[in-house]
Amino acid sequence: MKKENKEIFKSKNKSEIINKIKDWSKKKRAVEICGFLGFKNEEYILWLCSNIADDPKRYFAIDPIDFLYFQQENQMACVFHSHIYGDENPSEFDVTMSENCCIPFMIYSLNTKKFKIHEPKTNHANLDVLKRIKENL
Ligand SMILES: [Zn+2]
Repeated sequence: MKKENKEIFKSKNKSEIINKIKDWSKKKRAVEICGFLGFKNEEYILWLCSNIADDPKRYFAIDPIDFLYFQQENQMACVFHSHIYGDENPSEFDVTMSENCCIPFMIYSLNTKKFKIHEPKTNHANLDVLKRIKENL
């Protein structure tokens, strides 16, 4: 893993976390942004990772090493990514990926300015943290 390939943001305040995802999505609107949302030491934590997909305007991919590091260090709530085309509903690809990695996917649409969370049938996220994230989203 290249150490400089991610940005980290932490806050005790959930709305600051949600706003940060919106900010990053807007600032980097040429591509889908992606990363992880979790909890550690009484704070929410975001990692913004590099989108390593071949077509980052339509898809996203995160280095599996980043996934492993994040899960080791934090209580995972979800993987987040933005949609620069279309709405906040998960694509077929998103649903398959979420089901395969057993982690919820949070999507933010730049068009509708709405969030959606897809929860997989087998869910390995921290459900308490996820529940708090979902409240009034
Ligand atoms: Zn998507």
